Amino acid sequence: MAQAVKERILTTYFSLNQGSYMTQLSKYSIGVGDRFARQAEAQLAACIAAARVGVEVIPVWNKSHREHTIIGSRPESVRKAADFAVRKLGWTLPYHVDADHIRLDTVDDFIGASDFYTIDVADSIGVPADAAELDAFCRRHGELVGRLSIPGIESEIEIGEADLRLIAGKYLSAAQMAGRIQAHIEEARGGTPFITEVSMDETDSAQTPVELLVILAALADQKVPLQTIAPKFTGRFNKGVDYAGDLPRFEREFIEDLAVVRFAVSQYDLPANLKLSIHSGSDKFSLYGPVRAAIRAADAGIHLKTAGTTWLEEVIGLAEADGKGLALAKEIYTEAFEARQALCAPYATVIDIDPAALPSPADVSSWSAARFTASLRHDQTCPEYNPSLRQLIHVGYKIAAHMGDRYLSLIDRFEAETVARNVTANLFERHIKPLFID
Ligand SMILES: [Zn+2]
Repeated sequence: MAQAVKERILTTYFSLNQGSYMTQLSKYSIGVGDRFARQAEAQLAACIAAARVGVEVIPVWNKSHREHTIIGSRPESVRKAADFAVRKLGWTLPYHVDADHIRLDTVDDFIGASDFYTIDVADSIGVPADAAELDAFCRRHGELVGRLSIPGIESEIEIGEADLRLIAGKYLSAAQMAGRIQAHIEEARGGTPFITEVSMDETDSAQTPVELLVILAALADQKVPLQTIAPKFTGRFNKGVDYAGDLPRFEREFIEDLAVVRFAVSQYDLPANLKLSIHSGSDKFSLYGPVRAAIRAADAGIHLKTAGTTWLEEVIGLAEADGKGLALAKEIYTEAFEARQALCAPYATVIDIDPAALPSPADVSSWSAARFTASLRHDQTCPEYNPSLRQLIHVGYKIAAHMGDRYLSLIDRFEAETVARNVTANLFERHIKPLFID
């Protein structure tokens, strides 16, 4: 890795953290999920490949309370796997462990293991705030009323008093909840620094750039030193498949969001490195080009959460190994097919599976390794690629969790042969390269 770049990052990292309650998140970071805590090394290898060409992409291992519950794992296992991979591969740059989508009732399990907290306040959006507090917010933020000229946004933004009240009324409770959770984590960690992200993506309607500005003002008031914010962007972010939505509109709003973040940092007491976080649900390949162009033009950072496709690469690796590996991959599909209604229900808003496009388990049983991987691998140029099958297996990790050792022992057996290669190549070639390097 380029020595100069390494020194710069380390110097910045340590100088910014001295005497602060904050750990500094670097400009480019990637959130990776590792459902079964087996792939930290293979994932880190992708960040090492980026560093070798002079681009610092900091790994953040994320796993939510929901995933831990479904799999039966503990947050400490994520920390252990990350620490082990970092030591083994000699990674000397920062890395983090993210308590993904935590709330007040789920955060305590993550206090010892995480140094990055994604405070999820989506449930508090739209909860009516105390009337006096809403009045006070609107009075305090008279600067938001009228015509606003935000550098980076072509036309002036006009916010009327009633608009401000409406937006604040929708988001004030969420900001207050973020403040409560932030204070709770600070106290529980007894002053040990951590990174704060605030997420509002798991909700029905997207937030506009104007709403984002009001939200950031409210979070600053609540003393939430957030370094990343994950709004809900326009369009559908289905699990493990590409973006579905109005791409030009996404691009326009994303550029405006970048401008709003920069403006809010200049106006309010917010960390200077505050950046947007894209909770991609994985594989939003068609967004990478526009996002890359926008962050470069604005000289902005980005946090990209890719979540769960590593699990799919494990299944691809098993299938590629043929024999017992392929047989288990087919068994996972068969069980997922049979349990599809139960598996899909919790993810209903983030998947679009066409039942008619799902092959029958009987058909799949006759498939070769090449046929199986071609259907599952996210290569949109491949005629056999089947997004419905991919989404079903994506949400089907519970099946592998139930298989327990039968699954894990085969992963371990084929890790060096086929699994790790798929995990690393997927992360580097399909995500890191198009977003951060090309
Ligand atoms: Zn999310």
